[in-house]
Amino acid sequence: MSRRSLRFSRATCPICGSKEVARDDLKGDLLCTNCGNVVTRRETKSVGKFQIAQQLKREGRLSFSKLRDITGASDDKLFGILESMVRMGLIQEIGGSYSLTKRGSKWYRQRLGQQWGY
Ligand SMILES: [Zn+2]
Repeated sequence: MSRRSLRFSRATCPICGSKEVARDDLKGDLLCTNCGNVVTRRETKSVGKFQIAQQLKREGRLSFSKLRDITGASDDKLFGILESMVRMGLIQEIGGSYSLTKRGSKWYRQRLGQQWGY
């Protein structure tokens, strides 16, 4: 077995029940070193500031649960991102709904420009 970048994780193999499950950092999969089963990642999708800004730009304002539905992120992850965006002054929360600030709109346009290579 190659020793590239396997790291043991705390997961248990659903097939054989072994705790010798390693994370393959190259692929991000979990691999059972006992039976060879590849355990697919059950983590929620990662969500980025740009993605959130994009949704807010499109919809105007969105509630936390709506944003969670759209991005598919976990509560913790989404909350962390939103919190840091509020701290950066990119978004504001009013009455449970998030919307872009002027600064946020500008930030979004700049990011969009970078994406398209302007
Ligand atoms: Zn196994």
